[in-house]
Amino acid sequence: MDLLLIIIPAILIMVSQWYINSSYAKYNEYEVESGITGSKAAREILNANGLSDVKIVKIEGTLTDNFNPTNNTISLSNDIYSGSSVAAIAVAAHECGHVIQHKEKYAPIVMRSALVPVVNIASKLGYAIMIVGVLSSIFNMAIIGLVLMCATLIFQLVTLPTEFDASNRAKKQLIKLGIITKKELPKVSSMLYAAAMTYLASFFASFTQMLRLFLQINRRNN
Ligand SMILES: [Zn+2]
Repeated sequence: MDLLLIIIPAILIMVSQWYINSSYAKYNEYEVESGITGSKAAREILNANGLSDVKIVKIEGTLTDNFNPTNNTISLSNDIYSGSSVAAIAVAAHECGHVIQHKEKYAPIVMRSALVPVVNIASKLGYAIMIVGVLSSIFNMAIIGLVLMCATLIFQLVTLPTEFDASNRAKKQLIKLGIITKKELPKVSSMLYAAAMTYLASFFASFTQMLRLFLQINRRNN
């Protein structure tokens, strides 16, 4: 059972990584008909939504793209920033989706932001409590530690609707503003779907890790 709880999530993580990498490689090859770059598409979406104050900058790495609400900045990796592929437009628009979520105070993203400091403290404290509990054979203490560690799980769970919703908003904006054609929409959808699957795999991996720890603590207690 323990071995299965290690192997299954490891395989899922590997498959989801392969899926996103191969989707990215594939959709990096298709140029969008409008010929617009990721950064310009993002600028257009932001301006159309009254968000011209949001900055767009370039960052290193591959698929390191993100929106940071604390400095109101979208960071796009080189290929996404300067590229005009389906992948570039999809990812850039997805980050704009997150900006719009913040503007509209979309409930899961508000919750997610509020959870960040709580999760950081709870997971570290929980881990320490669990270790002390296990080492001193105080079963209840180990369980309390584990429950605190589950804050990470809640965070990852709230992340899921946030990611799917940002992609839906991205697609709506891209069509509405004529950045992509209806014919290009399925390719954008596939790219964004692959990205969302990585979050689902991470959630499942964390879930099985917690379950495995619970089973181990429970066995030690008996
Ligand atoms: Zn996202």
